[in-house]
Amino acid sequence: MSRDRLAFPGALALVRQCAVCGRWMVVTTSRRIFCSPRCRYKPWAATPKGKERRRAASAAYRRRQSEAIRAATPWVRRRREL
Ligand SMILES: [Zn+2]
Repeated sequence: MSRDRLAFPGALALVRQCAVCGRWMVVTTSRRIFCSPRCRYKPWAATPKGKERRRAASAAYRRRQSEAIRAATPWVRRRREL
């Protein structure tokens, strides 16, 4: 590939591979190592901060679901009230 065919011929452009899926991409800053938010998510979710955020989000989701089910079926007897 010749230099003038790059997306930003004037700027310092780099061609590099995504750290997750390996797709090639043209970047203007070397700090960018993922091709998309989707590829950025997976490594982030494995960090302690990401795990904590996912744990909290899952708990909130389950709580919302339980409340919705309880509200939709008030005639059903529960083993215990939360
Ligand atoms: Zn990727």
